[in-house]
Amino acid sequence: MANIIDGKKIAADVRADITARTEAFKNERGYAPGLAVVIVGEDPASQVYVRNKKKACEDVGFYSEVHEMPAQTTMEELLAKIEELKNNTKIHGILVQLPLPKHLDEKAVIAAIPPEKDVDAFHTINTGKIMLGEYSFLPCTPAGVMKMLEYENIDVSGKECVVVGRSNIVGKPMAMLLLHQNGTVTICHSRTKDLAEVTRRADILVVAIGKADFITGDMVKDGAVVIDVGMNRRADGKLTGDVDFATVEPKASAITPVPGGVGPMTITMLLENTLTAAKTTI
Ligand code: NDP
Repeated sequence: MANIIDGKKIAADVRADITARTEAFKNERGYAPGLAVVIVGEDPASQVYVRNKKKACEDVGFYSEVHEMPAQTTMEELLAKIEELKNNTKIHGILVQLPLPKHLDEKAVIAAIPPEKDVDAFHTINTGKIMLGEYSFLPCTPAGVMKMLEYENIDVSGKECVVVGRSNIVGKPMAMLLLHQNGTVTICHSRTKDLAEVTRRADILVVAIGKADFITGDMVKDGAVVIDVGMNRRADGKLTGDVDFATVEPKASAITPVPGGVGPMTITMLLENTLTAAKTTI
């Protein structure tokens, strides 16, 4: 029987700590850390994420603003909005909810956010710092995974770590963070030959591919720690991960469920990044 890593509980504990540190920050500075979230268009999933972010900010005592812009917003209008937020002293973190409508250039939008307010850590400066291990902000999902491992006293040093998925927001930074903790890291992707042979080597297996129940029990070593980043909607509307929980859980020593695993940690790390941004603003 695996230890089911309770992401909700860990997130609640970390958020309680952030709330206490926010209170101390407000007493010292006389203002609250501020996050601005910009959403363009009406993608229902993005709207839910943005609502959750606003609520999370309120819960820990942050100031927050949501800027809703219509789907036909131009690049000029969006860049002007970022410029306005850049100069707003109440705002320490700026987040533009992705994906953007197709006519907008995501890379140019991310580049326009000042690195010191880039609480998603997607700006090339922040991405580069992750490579060097000199970061102030970490991308929220991989940071959340590392926090969970720390919380569960799972030592990464010397372990075989396999990350399945190489996206810029999850897989690649995840691999770097495990490497910085002295894991022996392998990154797999859609061209990996004999994926199961690689995943079976993992002491710590992190899966972020976006395919429901893809990793099955036969692909996992006995006693592995399995972290499921995937969030997939089944036909019946239920949320499921990239890991087939029913067959993997009996083999794992620890596993994250979906929902209630990595998901709650992601917004928590956004809050952590926003507090860091506020603290580093003079
Ligand atoms: P992307 O689609 O950007 O990347 C998916 C990666 O998986 C790619 O590198 C791709 O390889 C790889 N891949 C796809 N199919 C296979 C396969 N058959 N075998 C091996 N590798 C494969 O996804 P994201 O990284 O953005 O997200 C991954 C999952 O994590 C999604 O379910 C997403 O919803 C979830 N997610 C969850 C978050 C949370 O808070 N819990 C936050 C962010 C994401 P290649 O590069 O070769 O195409």
